[in-house]
Amino acid sequence: MGSGLLSKAARGLVNLNARRVVDQALAAVWPPRCVLCGDHAGGDNLCDGCRDDLPWVTTGCRRCAEPLPRTVAECGGCLRATPPFDAAWASVIYGGAAASLVHRFKFSGDLAAGRALADALAARVRDADRPQLLVPVPLHWTRQWRRGFNQAELLAEDVCRAIDGPPVHPLLERRRRTPAQSALSAGRRRVNVRGAFACRPIPPGLSHVALVDDVMTTGATLAECTRALKRAGVARVDLWVAARA
Ligand SMILES: [Zn+2]
Ligand SMILES: [Zn+2]
Repeated sequence: MGSGLLSKAARGLVNLNARRVVDQALAAVWPPRCVLCGDHAGGDNLCDGCRDDLPWVTTGCRRCAEPLPRTVAECGGCLRATPPFDAAWASVIYGGAAASLVHRFKFSGDLAAGRALADALAARVRDADRPQLLVPVPLHWTRQWRRGFNQAELLAEDVCRAIDGPPVHPLLERRRRTPAQSALSAGRRRVNVRGAFACRPIPPGLSHVALVDDVMTTGATLAECTRALKRAGVARVDLWVAARA
């Protein structure tokens, strides 16, 4: 890796941490405006109108969070091939305003957009069984250095703050770089992430965690992360994702 990339990554980290500090200080004295329409939002990141307009997932598959007209224990896809994870919660359907929030957060480092997504996820999981830990889906370290942050980790931290726990713990690491899943077909996605994750030694007594990520599409990455956690001895793995494609 060239020193140019290293210094660019280091600058990214310093910038993001500085921005988070400034952001939090400003939010304390200056109520945030709605990240979608810019109106006053009564201390929230979304105004009531924009929050109501989001494509909320209200019913669907309990196992994989596939949005459906009614809630079912397992959808057709899950019955055909049982996913390794045990339950899934998604707050919004990926598209429109929800996709714009994800893009602004992930690719432009818009922290307020990230907080709006975390608020949506926190509202969705309020009644979910509480896991012992929140585990962010890891990025490969080169990608994280380039981006300056891991969006899944920031989301998990904001959700933890919003619902007062469970704590965030980076139990997983990405062992190798993989091409972005978004460019691949469903079949290629499974192969792309096979064996890509390793689990650090799990704390004694740990049996139930929730994996946190920004977007779930085919679920291939989350399934592979679940396999790594279960191989390490975690009995139950739930998914908490901001947006479901
Ligand atoms: Zn608004
Ligand atoms: Zn399903």
